[in-house]
Amino acid sequence: MSNNMRIVKICECCTQEFIARKTTSQTCSDRCAKRLYKLRQREKAIGRAEIETMVKRRPDVFIKEEQIRAIQAKERRTLKEAAILLNVTPLTLRRSVLGGKVRSEKAGKKHAFLRKDLMKIG
Ligand SMILES: [Zn+2]
Repeated sequence: MSNNMRIVKICECCTQEFIARKTTSQTCSDRCAKRLYKLRQREKAIGRAEIETMVKRRPDVFIKEEQIRAIQAKERRTLKEAAILLNVTPLTLRRSVLGGKVRSEKAGKKHAFLRKDLMKIG
């Protein structure tokens, strides 16, 4: 096709039709481009703030990947750590231990979960 093919697009900012010079154009004008950029930045900021609030409310749900990797590297895990890896609540894991489904070694009053034992559960 020729280079001066005209592409009719809808501006993502003002939703008006416009003739795009590039296939990547999203807006009809510089003004709209700037407004769209600001809007996107604001959306990103709101998204971040929401995640931060959620992490504060339910830190157990939003465990950071690094934390998971750190636990995976351990040979012995606490009940809480093992529960994170298995994606269950500590209470559920404790029940599984009592029911004989999961093996744990007791270190005093605390449970210790060996890496090899957790592997079997997947
Ligand atoms: Zn526009």
